[in-house]
Amino acid sequence: MKNEKKVFTLTYGCQMSERDAETITEIAGQAGYSRSEDLDTADLVIINTCCVRESAENKILGKIGELKKFKEKNPNLKIAISGCMVQQPGALERLKKRAPHVDIWAGTHNLHDFSSLLQRAERGTKVAEIWQEPKVNSESAPLAEQGKLQANVNIMYGCNNFCSYCIVPHVRGRERSRKPEEIINEIKDLVASGCREVTLLGQNVNSYGKEFLPSYDFADLLRDVDQIPHLLRIRFITSHPKDLSDKLIETVAKGDKLCEHFHLPIQSGSDLILQRMNRKYTREYYISRVREIRKLVPNASLTTDIIVGFPGESEEDFEQTLEIMRLIHYSQAFTFMFSKRSGTLAASMENQIPLDVKKRRLQRLMSVQNKESLDWRQGMIGKSYEVLVEGPSKTNPTRLTGRTRGNELVVFNGNSNLIGSLVNVRINEAGSWTLVGEIE
Ligand code: SAH
Ligand code: SF4
Repeated sequence: MKNEKKVFTLTYGCQMSERDAETITEIAGQAGYSRSEDLDTADLVIINTCCVRESAENKILGKIGELKKFKEKNPNLKIAISGCMVQQPGALERLKKRAPHVDIWAGTHNLHDFSSLLQRAERGTKVAEIWQEPKVNSESAPLAEQGKLQANVNIMYGCNNFCSYCIVPHVRGRERSRKPEEIINEIKDLVASGCREVTLLGQNVNSYGKEFLPSYDFADLLRDVDQIPHLLRIRFITSHPKDLSDKLIETVAKGDKLCEHFHLPIQSGSDLILQRMNRKYTREYYISRVREIRKLVPNASLTTDIIVGFPGESEEDFEQTLEIMRLIHYSQAFTFMFSKRSGTLAASMENQIPLDVKKRRLQRLMSVQNKESLDWRQGMIGKSYEVLVEGPSKTNPTRLTGRTRGNELVVFNGNSNLIGSLVNVRINEAGSWTLVGEIE
């Protein structure tokens, strides 16, 4: 009897990238490949890539290089590289030269066509296909592994914002929203298979549906998804501050399953840098949006993304970033050193900041944020929070783990039959990253 073929998938980057990896892996599944956690026994390896920062690219290039010896050991192994890195203008030729052992190269716009690439590769042909633009309806039916407690759901693709540092609009194309009924049907199917929490994904969810007539915006979508029976929680990322409407904040305040968590990337606390980043809001405007959130959703957690060492960032600009972090009290921040991305405006700006300065600023920023995160978590001690039980804790499998509505990770004792349900947990201890509590 012929052994079953196996696929091993690695994915890098944001949730959108994870979502794409899910679709490609499912397509491989339909072609007869079962999922494997073991690279050694795989017949197909998929690496779904990210190019948002140079550090991610270097890591991925290292990984692709490592696959060469696996191919030497097993010449029948097929290697597929997909996603943002491949889609970058001019990248394919460079990548192909560097990694001739790769069988399939696929861009971001044609991942739904992966089965035909796979068939050609199985017949021994090396294939590379990168569409410059998405084709109509090519994105309408993403595939997901059924039966998982949590799922990511794309509500839109692409980005129109062209922040001056960012490669995403160059590799993901222009903004396009999926139809509400398509999204709602996908979520209903997921729920029927056991899913209880969805995260709605877009580079800027607040501009969802801009082109729809009659008008139907992101707040309308949230309100409708909130009505889906048996779904317990709804999250969304990412909110661009410039488009965060009062209507959206009110909808979250009123919603039943809508989690009180806003990921609202600020990027910098300096108006000068924000302008050079092309973020289209000022520091004051951002603060006024946060005030509105705190007024209508007083218990909301706020998280953010910050870049240090953007070209021309002075010590004073950086101090303004530190100051705003202390002012806002984020529960968590994702902090990055500016990375030059070829083809973006910021890559050719004057006054690039030396690496040692960037590193020092990142260290200072992280130490401010670590204190903020700890303060936030310590403020939760003694209070009780609704937690969706996700499974055994990774660090201590005899305990359970789950998240609050604010997306804070909690560890507690309990019976595994609680997995998938909501429990109330009183918080007893707080570390920088996790909370320890007990079921009430
Ligand atoms: N659409 C989302 C972000 C997608 S990229 C938004 O606008 O918030 C995720 C994060 O990576 C960004 O928020 C930014 O902080 C960081 N990032 C993007 N390009 C970068 C670059 N060239 N260098 C360093 N960080 C970058
Ligand atoms: Fe990049 Fe800005 Fe678009 Fe986010 S909004 S993906 S940071 S260009």
